[in-house]
Amino acid sequence: MIALTHTRGQTWAVFGLARSGLATAQALVAGGAEVRLWDDSEASRAAAEAAGFRATPLDDAALTGCAGLALAPGVPLTHPAPHQVVANAHRAGVPVLGDIELLLRELKPAVYGVTGTNGKSTTTALLAHVLSSAGRKVALGGNIGTPALALPRYAAGEGVYVLEMSSYQIDLTPGWQAKIAILLNITPDHLDRHGTLQNYAAIKARIFVGQGGGDTAVIGIDDDHCRAIHAALVRENTARSIIPVSIERILENGVSAVDGRLYDNGREVFALDFPALPGAHNGQNIACVYAAARAAGLDAGAIRAGIASFPGLKHRLQRAGVVDGVPCINDSKATNADSAAKALASFEAIYWIAGGKAKEGGIDSLRPLFPRIRHASLIGDAARDFAATLGDTVSHTLCGTLDRALDDALAAARRERLKGAVVLLSPACASFDQFRSFEHRGDEFIRLVAERGGSVEQGAAA
Ligand code: ADP
Repeated sequence: MIALTHTRGQTWAVFGLARSGLATAQALVAGGAEVRLWDDSEASRAAAEAAGFRATPLDDAALTGCAGLALAPGVPLTHPAPHQVVANAHRAGVPVLGDIELLLRELKPAVYGVTGTNGKSTTTALLAHVLSSAGRKVALGGNIGTPALALPRYAAGEGVYVLEMSSYQIDLTPGWQAKIAILLNITPDHLDRHGTLQNYAAIKARIFVGQGGGDTAVIGIDDDHCRAIHAALVRENTARSIIPVSIERILENGVSAVDGRLYDNGREVFALDFPALPGAHNGQNIACVYAAARAAGLDAGAIRAGIASFPGLKHRLQRAGVVDGVPCINDSKATNADSAAKALASFEAIYWIAGGKAKEGGIDSLRPLFPRIRHASLIGDAARDFAATLGDTVSHTLCGTLDRALDDALAAARRERLKGAVVLLSPACASFDQFRSFEHRGDEFIRLVAERGGSVEQGAAA
């Protein structure tokens, strides 16, 4: 834990106690501050009280005299409307910020930050893994795994904090400045919380704010918003180094992942032959990590070795086990059609397990990928809708539950015995009709695969 000694003697408000909020309250108290905290959820308040705090509603009176309001990133700051507690803080003249701001104020540490619409967790974890494999001391956290203030305290120069930054966290970190910053991509997402795509892109662009000589900006340039941000960085002309990344074309000045190979300034460096990181989208993640790790002083050999030993993240194209020669892939994190598209594009012959709690738009957008699907085993509320979309084009079965779907998919795979075929759970749906969370659904899949003789590969991170 990082005790926030710079807040000693102050009074702080903390709102949102699910994950990072409680760690923030503890870090404040450990540093000698007094804390007033609250959460709208009774269960979260109960957890805080079990940890020794007393919850107090953060009305005007409670906020008076507070040095700041530490807000959890899940609480609306601006859109669709500021949460009541944010409005109260504004009225009381109390600054609103997040746990990462407090970490930066306390330690002024070296931070490497990763953001983007998709691939943040994979890229952040991969970067931390590559650096630590090469002997660097790194603490991984933020939006992934450990909350920032629950990470170890590093003395100046002792280690680097590698942080996944959601746009909410960027919004709550006015003093953000990263030695190395990665922006992967920007596509429409979470617009309910950011208003317009322009506003969302502007927040993401802040991952590069305050950078100067000796700092590095790594930026995917395959979408319009990131291309515009890249152009603005080049115009800004600070002394920072800027490394563009593409998975569409080989850049003369930049890093590219094209046709299964990684290129540095147009020269091939190594093949992208990493079973834990399949698919073109992972090429983007790998290329950004390569660019960042080079900027951190690693050579290509060390980077390649680090990537090769990365176990992959749980529930994101994770190899759950092999049954009768067929790899079973757990991509339970794919809760929408966009994510499922990345998974389907990563394999040639697929026995697809999909369905769950339906999301708007269904799977119509996946039509171009249907030729890769040998058979679909459908579950949950969305099964009938998905079946209607698959129609006569893709053979499918309504299976109801995940265990029946796995048996159905394995049976279809055994009938055809195609080379390179996989069973893929990539539901394109939320899980809440049958499971507590996408993690619960994925864990259940892993258990079912193991039950059918599949060996679980060890070591998936987070
Ligand atoms: P995030 O933390 O941004 O949600 P993850 O690393 O957890 O991203 O990956 C979530 C899903 O997003 C993956 O299962 C995959 O479908 C998709 N994905 C991962 N990396 C990328 C990328 N670079 N571009 C587009 N989609 C990606």
